[in-house]
Amino acid sequence: MRWVRYEHRGRVLLGIDEEKGVRHLKDLNLPEELAQAINGGHMDRWIELQPLWHPLRDELAKAPFLPRQEVRLLAPFGGRRKNLFCVGRNYKAHAEESAGFFGTSPADLPAYPVFFTKPYTAIIGPGEAIRFSPRITQAVDYEGELAVVIGRRGKNLKTGEAMNYVFGYTLLNDVSARDLQKRHGQYFKGKSLDTFAPLGPAIVEKEDLPPVETLELRTWVNGELRQKASPKDLLFSIPELLASLSQGMTLEPGDVLATGTPEGVGLGFNPPRFLRAGDVVRIAVEGIGVLENPVVEEEEP
Ligand code: MG
Repeated sequence: MRWVRYEHRGRVLLGIDEEKGVRHLKDLNLPEELAQAINGGHMDRWIELQPLWHPLRDELAKAPFLPRQEVRLLAPFGGRRKNLFCVGRNYKAHAEESAGFFGTSPADLPAYPVFFTKPYTAIIGPGEAIRFSPRITQAVDYEGELAVVIGRRGKNLKTGEAMNYVFGYTLLNDVSARDLQKRHGQYFKGKSLDTFAPLGPAIVEKEDLPPVETLELRTWVNGELRQKASPKDLLFSIPELLASLSQGMTLEPGDVLATGTPEGVGLGFNPPRFLRAGDVVRIAVEGIGVLENPVVEEEEP
């Protein structure tokens, strides 16, 4: 199923996204805990309650549709106060293309996953604008990424069991201010500006997708294809990332781990092709959907 968080007549709700529209779960006769998660738009709680709603899937799948024009899809985790987990330099060709810009050696591939986070305040949904002030950054870049959504609480996971903790997948644009990234000597600041985490459009359960290695991630800027890659080329696979991240650190239902971006980002071009006002970034994985966001430049005091 494709789970979405959406706005309808001023309310934020959870529903099932299908081609015809969004299935409206609000009026179903469900246990109180489930109803609260749906009516509050609490996606992390919904994922945590999976054991409760899984037996009711047939009933949920028959809920009435809301027409697409009556709903606005939101970021699946807009209300959740926890950082997004990310990993840098996790595709070989992207690590190589970044080396020139950051003055590191292209042969210097990471021996361990390079984890960092983005704050929840940076999250925006499908269609919302990526906004930046030219006073603060002049090197804003896109990074199309497949993101894993955790389904169960877990710690010290082994590689062989890690996939049992995955609920599903979504998409992230790991928008990055390259000048800030370079100046501050780490990832966090330049990747954490408000609106720098477009997320969505849906969370698709892993059982409803083909094996993740066969998926194809593509990113376009203004209709021009810039990135095309498969998660089979990740330096650290999803189970390896989850095993590594969870050592000594608890993963929780609703946690998001973006798996890294492939080659083709703006800094890889000579000269670099950074985002400008009026650009539109579109990220797609078949079965998960399309995450499209326009770019707006605005002065800030
Ligand atoms: Mg990234």
